[in-house]
Amino acid sequence: MATEDTIHQFNLSIFESYLKDVRTGTVSSMISLAFLTVISMPSVDKTMLALWFSFVFITAAIKYYAYNFFNPEFDAASLAKFENWHLVLQALSGLAWGSACFFLLKTGDLNGNESLVLNMLCVLVAYSAVVMSASSTGMLTFVTPIIASMLIYFATDLTHYYWWFVAALLLAGASAIFGKTNKKHVLSQVESQLLNKRYIDELNRIKANVQRANLDLVKKNEALVIAQERLRMLATNDELTQVFNRRHAMTYLEKVFAELRRRPDDFVLVLADIDHFKSINDRYGHPAGDLVLRGFSKMLKEQLRQVDTVARFGGEELLIMLPKTKELEAKAIIQRLCDAVAAQPYKLQGQSVKVTSSFGLAYYQVGDTIEKLIERADQALYHAKKSGRNNVKTYYEADMAAYIAAV
Ligand code: GH3
Ligand code: MG
Ligand code: MG
Repeated sequence: MATEDTIHQFNLSIFESYLKDVRTGTVSSMISLAFLTVISMPSVDKTMLALWFSFVFITAAIKYYAYNFFNPEFDAASLAKFENWHLVLQALSGLAWGSACFFLLKTGDLNGNESLVLNMLCVLVAYSAVVMSASSTGMLTFVTPIIASMLIYFATDLTHYYWWFVAALLLAGASAIFGKTNKKHVLSQVESQLLNKRYIDELNRIKANVQRANLDLVKKNEALVIAQERLRMLATNDELTQVFNRRHAMTYLEKVFAELRRRPDDFVLVLADIDHFKSINDRYGHPAGDLVLRGFSKMLKEQLRQVDTVARFGGEELLIMLPKTKELEAKAIIQRLCDAVAAQPYKLQGQSVKVTSSFGLAYYQVGDTIEKLIERADQALYHAKKSGRNNVKTYYEADMAAYIAAV
């Protein structure tokens, strides 16, 4: 069944074709009738002919200008308005053609005007059937005045050849039937066009949805990656200092020790501790202590090599791990670090405050455990503190000091 949409689209296509056909229709019928006139010469009444041509021409011109002036926006309301205009103009043209035929017949004979009218009627009905058949109302308003004028003529003068009229009626009937089938054909075409359009619209809508969903997924994925990265950071990093946390340091050490057990290598573990940190907290407040701790961690991370690892071991105590590093090299690196810390002042409550730190180094030995190595670094640190702070001690130095103290 034709939907409202289809009917509207159908009317639209008919009226669009009217706008186009009014020019070609008028010009082509004028030409064909001029041709018929020439054939029927010389017996045609010249004055009648001239009158008829000008009448038809004027109505065609009115129609043409009216259509162009109207130029409808093709919504349902203006379409209806256009149809009314169109029907009036169709009737006017029909009247022009009908009265022309009537007067030609009145003043004619079989060889002259009458044969011209017969030809005219054939051309006319065929033309209207082809151009206007899609709208039967439009066609009827055009053809009815012509047929009516013929009826009047034959009613007043039955001696004439009324079979012309019968022939014209038959033609009109045939064109009406043609119109009906043509209408069905046009309707189904319009319907399938609309259906196609609807499919395409639906496809486009689905496509847009998929694209939107895709974009959503991409965004969610990005958010997920960021969240994962943050989780990973939270799991491995210390929040205050942004160096690794103790748990990560232990995992790292386990991996290193597994490797060292298979293939012994140089490895140095350092415990670093800020000197008199408690008094910084006491004098400048806990937030100032945090600031120093952050600065200390940052400096360690920046001064060390890419392969080295810094982690917060607890409080203001940091673990430094130096892989593939020999004793002397490690001592030099850490000494530089110790000096750099001491040289870097902090601004605490408007005062420039220098902070020092102590470091205890322990070297990996075959058969070591993580606990043993940390314990030795702790003893070295203890020794560094005992030796006046702001310095670096190795476990051997600590051990030696203990030996000397014992004897
Ligand atoms: P020493 O030279 O012997 O190391 O003296 P110290 O005062 O630094 O002594 P200790 O290492 O025992 O003191 C650690 C202090 O660090 C105690 C604690 O209040 C403080 N501390 C631990 N964690 C934090 C922290 O996250 N922020 C701040 N501001 N202070 C902390
Ligand atoms: Mg300390
Ligand atoms: Mg401490």
